[in-house]
Amino acid sequence: MKITAALVREAAAPFRLEEIDLAELKPLEVLVRIVAVGICHSDIAARDQSLPIAFPAVLGHEGAGIVEQVGSSVTKLRPGDKVVLTVASCGNCVNCSRGDIAYCENGIALNYGGRRADGSPTLCCNGEAVSGHFFGQSSFATYAIANERNAVKVHANADLTLAAPLGCGVQTGAGTVLRALAAKSGRSIAIFGGGSVGLSALMGAVVAKCDPIIVVEPVAERRALALEIGATHAIDPSAGSLSDQIRRIKERGVDYIVDTTASVAVIESALASLATHGAMAFVGVPKDQEAALKLPLLNFLIMGATLKAVVEGDTDPDTFIPELLAHVEAGRMPLGKLVQTYAFADINRAVDDQLRGRVVKPVLIL
Ligand SMILES: [Zn+2]
Ligand SMILES: [Zn+2]
Repeated sequence: MKITAALVREAAAPFRLEEIDLAELKPLEVLVRIVAVGICHSDIAARDQSLPIAFPAVLGHEGAGIVEQVGSSVTKLRPGDKVVLTVASCGNCVNCSRGDIAYCENGIALNYGGRRADGSPTLCCNGEAVSGHFFGQSSFATYAIANERNAVKVHANADLTLAAPLGCGVQTGAGTVLRALAAKSGRSIAIFGGGSVGLSALMGAVVAKCDPIIVVEPVAERRALALEIGATHAIDPSAGSLSDQIRRIKERGVDYIVDTTASVAVIESALASLATHGAMAFVGVPKDQEAALKLPLLNFLIMGATLKAVVEGDTDPDTFIPELLAHVEAGRMPLGKLVQTYAFADINRAVDDQLRGRVVKPVLIL
């Protein structure tokens, strides 16, 4: 069928809306009419090729919409169901069988390979192959093909504008606190970076009843937003040593740290803010693929510290995304304060606004 999609034809070039062809469904796939799609850091990283992907390509991996058709073997979904699309996983490898789907051993091919697991393309344009299947969806488009595994059903009245970012950015931030760190009530936490993932980690820390909740962010407006949505403290990293500023609030250091900056200097200095037996999670994609940390082994051992890399929040999306949606709907996670909507045709303005820090979470409406 013909769809309208935002194509990238060369690195860092603007997206261009074009009419292209979407393949027929395979037995375990679903056709989703995209209603809303968030823009996430990995979309921009892929556009700019710091996350390499073959061009031309259709990106987009926070799609939400309505199931229009299901493949012959689909049992989980029916036409008319509202769904949030999330990361793709194979369902057959050791990690998938253990429920650790973000660490699917076929995840790289499935999410970044541009094609289905069997090698067939989902998209083409005038006979030319187009990389699709980005995070198993390529949802910067009017329609997307997903596997039933990475389409999560939400209830019939769900607001898809707010549901869309749950599929990646919010799941990553909130899941890191609620699942990967399993943060306990009354424990202290510092979150490095006040972008969409950091502020989602903050919303997770509010749900977990952490205290204090410290957000470290250089942009004043984002520090103000962090305080508005539940941070007890917001620190400007340029106002002095981070560990001094954090230990002024919590003398023994904090029990948990979530780093979203993927900066070696920030992560190394963050470790100096960790309390004995504390745990730090890092979730960001480093700009430099060779970036490496220097760890003070003896000190780390004596502290009994944990350093954990986390993908997509270590969650089971089928249960976690509806749980997040319930928090949003009950007002426990004020996600609406992070979201700004744009028409699909304004995708380049939305990306630009995000890069300039004018918006935390742009969501395109189709
Ligand atoms: Zn797998
Ligand atoms: Zn993402």
